[in-house]
Amino acid sequence: MTSSLENIRHDWTLEEVNALFNKPFNDLMFEAQTVHRQHFNANEVQVSTLLSIKTGACPEDCKYCSQSARYKTDIEKERLMEVEKVLEAAQKAKAQGSTRFCMGAAWRNPKERDMPYVTEMVKGVKALGLETCMTLGMLSKEQAHSLQEAGLDYYNHNLDTSPEHYNQIITTRTYQDRLDTLDNVRSAGMKVCSGGIVGLGEKANDRASLLAQLANLTPQPESVPINMLVKIDGTPLAEVAELDDFDFIRCIAVARIMMPKSHVRLSAGREAMNEQMQAMCFLAGANSIFYGCKLLTAANPETNADIALFEKLGINTETIESLVDDGQEEKQIQAAIIEKENEDLFYNAG
Ligand code: SF4
Repeated sequence: MTSSLENIRHDWTLEEVNALFNKPFNDLMFEAQTVHRQHFNANEVQVSTLLSIKTGACPEDCKYCSQSARYKTDIEKERLMEVEKVLEAAQKAKAQGSTRFCMGAAWRNPKERDMPYVTEMVKGVKALGLETCMTLGMLSKEQAHSLQEAGLDYYNHNLDTSPEHYNQIITTRTYQDRLDTLDNVRSAGMKVCSGGIVGLGEKANDRASLLAQLANLTPQPESVPINMLVKIDGTPLAEVAELDDFDFIRCIAVARIMMPKSHVRLSAGREAMNEQMQAMCFLAGANSIFYGCKLLTAANPETNADIALFEKLGINTETIESLVDDGQEEKQIQAAIIEKENEDLFYNAG
């Protein structure tokens, strides 16, 4: 199946994805960079800021996560942040060049009593002229609608890993639960941010399977974070074997080829990467990064390091203006949703 979105494919087979992963490295990088240049300015990176609005004490059992209440980690638990504090942080993020402000809460799902606060946050951040993104766990249809009405642009909900490896990593929610949340987000009219984590002790085939899941979503997620596991003491994955850097770079390149119009985000794990590794990831097609929330409260040498790297590489950051289009993207998303609905109808009829 090929969607009308400029021949974006949603019918990737595992064999095809594995074939991409197994290409000679230089061929893979060349193909990824070629695809990247067809759809993006190759020297531009989008910058988001991530703020944790509620930290720790999460009832879920994601085996990589410092915020799960089930593991003994050094995390400082924090209640849901006040709306004013969130808006102050958003203002600072904007001043530092971020175009998107992502707010994350360590919840299984938001409770009804939380919704008035999070929707206020969305309205306030939106009023500052920033794109808004949230990650709050699973969402019902109604909650997705409330967030969309408040002005939420993106909702992040990662698939994390392949369906095959999933049970090794999380047991408190199913893969289908995740797909259902993504469906609710999409149906409410918001953009989807969904990716995964590599280095979870998965096999190469699992990385291919995860990317096939993401690319075969219709429409594909607009934003695809690819995270390198950050091993946290106290979590069950603290001692998992290291992933080879080239396997990570290949993952970025294959994501770029399969999801040519998506922003591929170099996410968690970037702090541990040297400049050369990050540069290879940009060459492979990564075009979005996070500035961490710590930069909001303290002088942040890492921010300076990012700026220095961008200068060395001649990379500019995307501006809000460059993100504003003539509504074409929205129309394409709507067309793809209708196409998907038609497909489902035909399938059911059969
Ligand atoms: S749901 Fe999110 S915050 Fe909770 S344990 Fe899993 S990854 Fe961590």
